[in-house]
Amino acid sequence: MKVIDHINESKSTLFSFELLPPLKGSTLQTIFDTINPLLEFNPAYINVTYHREEVVYRPSSNGTLIPTVLRRRPGTVGIAAAIQHKYKIDIVPHIICGGFNQLETEDALIDLDFLGIHNVLAIRGDADKIVGRFEPKIGGHRYAVDLVKQVIAMNHGNYQDETLEKPNPTKFCVGVAGYPEKHGESPNSISDIQRLKEKVNAGADYIVTQMFFENKNYFNFVKACRDIGITVPIIPGLKPVSLKEHLSILPKVFNVELPQDLVKEMEKCCDNRSVKEVGVKWAIEQAKELKKAGVPSLHFYTMGKSDNIARIAKEVY
Ligand code: FAD
Repeated sequence: MKVIDHINESKSTLFSFELLPPLKGSTLQTIFDTINPLLEFNPAYINVTYHREEVVYRPSSNGTLIPTVLRRRPGTVGIAAAIQHKYKIDIVPHIICGGFNQLETEDALIDLDFLGIHNVLAIRGDADKIVGRFEPKIGGHRYAVDLVKQVIAMNHGNYQDETLEKPNPTKFCVGVAGYPEKHGESPNSISDIQRLKEKVNAGADYIVTQMFFENKNYFNFVKACRDIGITVPIIPGLKPVSLKEHLSILPKVFNVELPQDLVKEMEKCCDNRSVKEVGVKWAIEQAKELKKAGVPSLHFYTMGKSDNIARIAKEVY
């Protein structure tokens, strides 16, 4: 079933979450171990992130650094298919612009279609950590809006190969990312929301937000989207803090602010066990208020850990 149909058919706030493929060399069981504690909350759908290859520098025997291309978290499509097969829960694999040309994207979408997966989250992918900016592969997409357009074209039976006779129209439901506190590369939030509208105009069915720790950022963002004419559902993304390092990592990597009350509580903690407690308490308050406001779904970023998400869900659902 499509995410948008889950949302439209539900009378209450859905529960959903995002998984990361495990590090290369790990087993599928680690994914199942993350999912199992969350099954009792009846997840409507589960997202699986996509991770492109990256360049890392490794020291050689003479001390010089050798660039090596590696992909730390492969397996998105296999994991998506395995979860859907085992649990009969709808899966939303992420598809990204980075590292793909349009033909490769088309082939990936054909794989998903053949596997009976009809939901995708269309994302650009992060900027290169070394170069500091995003560069598409030759023949690939520079912005997520172009990826959305390609998926929607396939939904209309338009493939890259125009000589195909009566190609099968796919039926993907497409989600896109939105940023309550603005995307880090965007000059300002108005411009960012205008870009978001372009993704919706291209055919995106719904928006999932970047994590935020102050609900007013989400409510203001939704209002700004509605004011500019974006009408699709906007699903809030929630991440409970669990490590002291989140104080600096989350603002830097995700361009989000941590409110001072949360920072104070985290700073008082002498270990990560107590930070996790703070994170659970904070997320419960956020989730309760969002649910009361009637948001379509509460979407949790697990980052591979689900015990804290289960505790939050128990209090909220
Ligand atoms: P875009 O919508 O393309 O926007 C990127 C930037 O370009 C923005 O600043 C936007 O304002 C600007 N922009 C857009 N269109 C134009 C235009 N025509 N001209 C000029 N500027 C423009 N990353 C992964 O690698 N894998 C994942 O699985 C993944 N999942 C994610 C899930 C969610 C819910 C979120 C919020 C993020 C996820 N990311 C993931 C991170 C994402 O790749 C980064 O945030 C990335 O930097 C932007 O992706 P986007 O799809 O929002 O890009």
